[in-house]
Amino acid sequence: MVDYKCFSCKKIVSDTYIKKKVRCPYCGSRLIFKPRISTTKVKAA
Ligand SMILES: [Zn+2]
Repeated sequence: MVDYKCFSCKKIVSDTYIKKKVRCPYCGSRLIFKPRISTTKVKAA
């Protein structure tokens, strides 16, 4: 599951909502980005 973040109100928008409409359900903004929550794994070669 991937959470998106609204660029305007900084609220987390679930991806299920994104699939329906690319719009923030809280403020109606269409500026939604995906915060980088994935841990950067650096392989020790
Ligand atoms: Zn918003």
